[in-house]
Amino acid sequence: MNAVPPVALYIHVPFCVSLCPYCDFVVYAGAAARGPRARVGAFLDALHTELELRADALDEAVGTPRPPLETVYLGGGTPSLLPPEAVAGLLERVRARFGVATDAEVTIEANPGPAERGDARGLRAAGVTRLSLGAQSLSDPELRRLGRRHGASDVADAVAAAREGGIGSVSLDLLYDLPDSSLARWAETLEVALVLDPDHLSLYALTLDDPDAEGLTGPTGDHLPTTAGARRWRERARSRQGEDRAVAQYQHAVERLAADGWRGYEISNWARPGHESRHNLVYWERRPYEAVGPGAHAFDGATRRWTGARLDGYMGALAPADGAPPRLPPGGSETLKPAMAAAEAAILGLRTDRGVALATAHEPAFADAFAWALGDQLVQVTDEERVVLTTRGRLLSNELFARMV
Ligand code: SF4
Repeated sequence: MNAVPPVALYIHVPFCVSLCPYCDFVVYAGAAARGPRARVGAFLDALHTELELRADALDEAVGTPRPPLETVYLGGGTPSLLPPEAVAGLLERVRARFGVATDAEVTIEANPGPAERGDARGLRAAGVTRLSLGAQSLSDPELRRLGRRHGASDVADAVAAAREGGIGSVSLDLLYDLPDSSLARWAETLEVALVLDPDHLSLYALTLDDPDAEGLTGPTGDHLPTTAGARRWRERARSRQGEDRAVAQYQHAVERLAADGWRGYEISNWARPGHESRHNLVYWERRPYEAVGPGAHAFDGATRRWTGARLDGYMGALAPADGAPPRLPPGGSETLKPAMAAAEAAILGLRTDRGVALATAHEPAFADAFAWALGDQLVQVTDEERVVLTTRGRLLSNELFARMV
């Protein structure tokens, strides 16, 4: 039961035209996404029902009126595949049941290809204020190797269309540590990205985890099983990544973007002033957020709740075939013990350029880890008595975080 009202809402739309072999998001592709057997229409009905049930639960637990949401984020999958009217309908439902602040940030993720990027003007009219574009690379051979459907020129076209459509904030996602990449090719990708003049950049190392091995793909798990083809692709790709190269690529980005006046406000995220992702800051600041859709995670300030990734289980609960009343979809939850919650808060804080208060570093649970990190120049203390990661610390952050839990 939620004890405090959410300040943000995540909506997961789990459809893509095709499946990228490295993708660990909850995605249904191919016939499920388009054509006569598409499940999108039935899913949208179920999503509306979930929004109603989650809002009912909040009404009961927290009461009404609640403060309006500060951010809404439509992620996926490829939510830009939805017609603008469907996005407008969802946001209308959210406004009616949760309230949305007039200055709220409303983000939609989009793929750059012409058939996938959506109609920017229609999305803007629906209330979208921010576009997060899955560019991933700006090199056509790299995009082909990643199994992406778009080319580099589509990214430029998508950014231009977003600007023309009146979307005020445009973010690009790019991947480094790609198979067979090089520092020079990454530097070139970054230069091409800068020419497009985005407002925000998310730069992630390509991670090729195995959600099956991590036990995340059971009946109520928040991931889907990896296909045999994707598994083979990942094995090949992993052997062509390089740790030293990844470090050099990250370091290059840090220096290049700092020289261009960007704020690296989180380990993997850079923004022009005023374009920091308010939605993601909610996660890093450990503020409460609601979430709907398969595989989505919510947090009420104490308990993390997730919905199972499997569409059949999701639809079976929200749109029962036997005409029974809809119920909330299956999933799981976890409430961290106070010590783990404190560690999580400190780790999330360190991910950002605000870091944590010096007092946190002196807490008995963290003192050894911070003393080690200070000695090894992974962290530094600012004039405002905050402890922040250095560039070296950002690169080796996992080593510090492991010592904090
Ligand atoms: S487009 Fe994005 S969400 Fe869809 S399969 Fe590819 S990486 Fe995953």
